[in-house]
Parts: sequence; C-alpha cells; structure tokens
Amino acid sequence: MAGHIPEEKVDEIRKSVDIAEVVGEYVQLKRQGRNYFGLCPFHGENTPSFSVSSDKQIFHCFGCGKGGNVYSFLMEIEGYSFLQAVRRVADKTGHSLPEQFNETPVQQTDPEAQSILDAHEWMTKLYHHMLRNSKEGKNALQYLLERGFTEETIQKYHLGFSPTSPDFVATFLEKKGFHPQTMVKAGLLNANEKGEYFDRFRGRIMFPLRNHLGKTVAFAGRSLGDQEPKYLNSPETELFQKGRLLFNFDLARSSIRKSKTMVLFEGYADVLSADQAGIRNGVATMGTSISETQAQLIKRYADRVIVCYDGDSAGMTAASKAAKLLKQTGCQTNVARLPEGLDPDDYIKKFGGDRFEREVIEASDPYTSFIINFLRRNYNLQLEGDRIAYIEKVLQEIAQLERAIEREHYLKALAEEFQMSIDTLKSEVEKLKAQKSNANLLQTYERRPQHNVPVKRSSTHRKLLPAFHNAERKLIANMLKNPVIADKVQEELGGAFNISEHQVIVTHLYAYYEDGHEPNVSQFIERLEDQSLKDLVIQLTMSSGMDEEMSDQEISDYLHRIRSENTDRNDIKSLEAEQKKAEQHNDPIKAAEIAMEILRRKQELKNTH
Ligand SMILES: [Zn+2]
Repeated sequence: MAGHIPEEKVDEIRKSVDIAEVVGEYVQLKRQGRNYFGLCPFHGENTPSFSVSSDKQIFHCFGCGKGGNVYSFLMEIEGYSFLQAVRRVADKTGHSLPEQFNETPVQQTDPEAQSILDAHEWMTKLYHHMLRNSKEGKNALQYLLERGFTEETIQKYHLGFSPTSPDFVATFLEKKGFHPQTMVKAGLLNANEKGEYFDRFRGRIMFPLRNHLGKTVAFAGRSLGDQEPKYLNSPETELFQKGRLLFNFDLARSSIRKSKTMVLFEGYADVLSADQAGIRNGVATMGTSISETQAQLIKRYADRVIVCYDGDSAGMTAASKAAKLLKQTGCQTNVARLPEGLDPDDYIKKFGGDRFEREVIEASDPYTSFIINFLRRNYNLQLEGDRIAYIEKVLQEIAQLERAIEREHYLKALAEEFQMSIDTLKSEVEKLKAQKSNANLLQTYERRPQHNVPVKRSSTHRKLLPAFHNAERKLIANMLKNPVIADKVQEELGGAFNISEHQVIVTHLYAYYEDGHEPNVSQFIERLEDQSLKDLVIQLTMSSGMDEEMSDQEISDYLHRIRSENTDRNDIKSLEAEQKKAEQHNDPIKAAEIAMEILRRKQELKNTH
C-alpha cells in the first residue's frame, strides 16, 4: 500500500503536519474540547458530524462512516493516489522525497493512459508552436490578438493552432512512436475504412483542457471561419470525463481557496477573459451543463459561487438550473446578470474588466432574488390566473430559505408588489415548509447509505449489538491504545474474535506492536488495505465510551464473553456437521434430535445477549 517509499519516511512526513490544519483547508472546523467539528465534505449534511482529532491525528464522520489519517483524507478529497498524497504533505512541510518518487505518472500501471497523457503533452506544445511560429498559424494568432487576448494569456493557457493539412498530427505522432489506434481512442486522430489515419482537429484554434493536476487530457478546437461545429471537443476517455472536470480548476484552485469564492462560466473564452481582467477564480464546465459531481467539487472548495452565464434566454435558463443544483449542495449561490445578447467575454471586451467585476460579479443577485425575477418570464402578470400561479411558485422558493429574516425580506416585497397581506403569505409558506420537512424525512430514510457503515453511532443501535460484539469492540479500542492489553489478549485469545473484521484488525495490530511501534492509530491504519477496515478502526477509536480505562476485571469479563461465544459457535458448528452425517446415514431420528439440540443452543446464545 505504502507505494515503495520507506515506511519510516511515510511516518516522518505524516508526523510533520497537523491533520486539523490540512483538513482545515477544505472544511471549516470548530474546536470543541479536544476535537474539531465541521460539516462532512464527503456527504451532504446540515449539522456537523465530521470530526478531527489532533491528539490521534485522524478524522472520522459519524454520519457516513468515512475515516482515516491525513493521507486517506487527501486521497478521498482530491482523488490522489497514496503517493500523491504523501507528496502533497511532503511539499507542504518542506520534506524531500527520494528522487524516484518525485515524478509519478497519474496512472502508474496503465500504459495506454500514460501514452495518451504523453501524446497530449506533445500536442499541447506542437499546437502552441504552430500558432506562434507557422505561416498558417499567423491568421489564428492575429484573430486571438484582435479579440483582445494578450500574449501572456496565450502563453499561460498554451493556446494553439491545428494546421489544415490532413495528416500533420498523424505523421508527427507516428514518428514519436505512438500507436495510431490508441491515438484514435485519445481523440487526436480519426481512421477511415481503409485503415488510414487523419487528424481530428484541422484549421482550429486549440484550447488544451487540463485535469485538476494540470495535465492536458483533451482539446477543444474552435473554428476560425464558419467551419461547423464552432467548437469541436475531444471524445470522452478514461482520463477525460466531462462531468468530472472543471476547466481551469488547476490554475484557479489557490485563488478559490483563499477567497472561498468561485465564478462559474459557460465558455472557455469567458474564463480566459476574466483571468485577464484579474478574476483568477473562474472555472467553466466542459461544454456541457453542470453535473452533480462538479457541483459537489465546487462546494468542497468554495462557500460561495457566482454563476455567470450568457445574457440571452438560453443562458439564463441554463444559469437557473446550475444555480439550483449548486444551491442544493449548500453553497451560497449568486447569479450574475448580463445585458441581453452579451456573454461575459463580450462584456469584458466592450466595457473592461473593472466594470465587469463591479457591475456584474459584485452586483450579482442572490439565488432567490434571481429566481423570483427569472420566473416572471413564464407568466403574464396582467392575468389573474397567471399572477396566482406565479405567486405560488415564488412562495415555494421562499419556503426553502433557512433563515426567517430572509423569508421575511422576500415576503414583504411580494406582499407589496401584489398588494396582499403578509400574514396570508406567511401562513402559506409555513404550510409549504411543513410539507417539505415531511418529504425530507422520508427521503433521509430512503437514501441513508447502508454500505460502508459497519456500525452506526446511534445509541439505540449500540444497545442492539450482542454483548460479545460489544466486548470485542471495547477490547480492540483499548488494544489500540495500550500494547500491554494487546499482549494479554494475544496470549489468551490470539485471533479468536468472532467478527471476521475484528480478526483481521487484531492480526495486523499484533504484528504492528511486534514491529516495535508505539500505539498510534493514524500510523496503524496504513497497514490495513481495505478502506472499510480503516473506517471501522477509526470508528472504534472515536466512538464515545470507548476511551475509558479498563480494569483487569473488565478485560477478563470481556475475554470470557468472547470465548464462550466462540465455544458455543464452534459447538453449534460441530453439531451441524453431526446432523448432516446423520442425514447422510439415513438416520432421521438422530438428525431430528440433533436439530432440536442446535435450536436449543441457538436460543440460549440469543438469551445470553
Ligand atoms: Zn460524512
């Protein structure tokens, strides 16, 4: 699991950072006693059940069951490999890794993916070179400069040009030794029936599309003249999934982290123009409408998002959908208003970056204001029927607001505009809210994830655990803290725990102490390959009541309980074997007798719990 970096190095780097500090870059944490609490970044929630322990250097979510150390956290939230996570912490704390670990491919084992990445890197350079230096690229460069893109922007985003010759790229890639079939898959070439290969992008301005690590994984080619389509994108591949990536996220990330704000655009050119105007926290979807995954990603980094789409009707409809999805993730969502017929890029070119920032970004409407206005276009408010339908729609939006002061604000405006009593409107909203909370309750029950949550934290659930199960949990929690207890349990019980997950955990734990390690949960979980086991260990460590010191008497009691459960189970197993034998020997009376005995023993087992 630990790549091939020496274990001591991995530990040393892990110990050099405080997990609360790293998690704090993603989650707003509040200190409470010895732990920190915040909203879980891995599942949607309104009350914090995500906790970080500085003492133990671990995190744990009581809601979804996720847990681990600083590396697991980074792997989960950034999609890093283990090595990437170690490297990130090493960079942060100024540690250096042995030479061979400094450069690792994204997909360590997949040569095809690596080849696609390499080809994209070559093509980014080649297209850029063609834009800058070729005769053919001159027109394209001229066009970009005339449209107001600066040399720096062209450089920063590695904009390029794909020559019109049908096999310029095909020949180049072949010379470099890339397999043409793989290049077709990568979307750089097309093949005809005769098995000849041609360039997919011809005579277009090329926008490299980078993943979140800054590697080009696809291209968008914009036509120069009236060539259709206006934008030609790479096809989806393993490395390029439109719904998972955000354009410019790699470059915008640090600015987003600082400002906790993100600006979401529709077009690549909008992002570039905004960046040129000093707005560094702009991202865009990849030519598709925003996906749930992208919305979650945005929420993870930003408290506030400003949707800035085209000013036309299609743009506003798309903006309302995007804003709604973002709002649902819990992001504070605003929508920018642009004059009809202008996109952000046009606006900046026409009125300048300062005005854009002041009059579009900063003057953007909070989601509810926007939606109340947006809904108007569907109704003719001169007609009474339409008016009522519109008011009902607006009330539904208002009912979703969490803060009473906000609800009051919009209700007042509505009451004034339509000359209605605010009390009537208020009672309507209360009704809608009641309906909504009933529906929510149902949904929570239906949606609650069952997998990956070995044992829930709810106290009722804990009471339901059989006594031996609880005994095993308590023992392991104490063994994790105290090698002397682990020693004693190893001697008396060995691996004979009844729950198979517990068997695996204690086996690793014995080996961990035998290697001479001190108790350290954060370090120990590195040895467990299975994420659900890591989660379970963390959960055992973090659950309340697990922290209490154990007396020798208690330890003996627990051991006894586990052992007798074990004996009973073994007894039942051998009885079952005997029963089978009797059946095979055509002795139904004996078989029935044994079956009765099994039933009795099982009943007994149940009663003792
Ligand atoms: Zn969670």
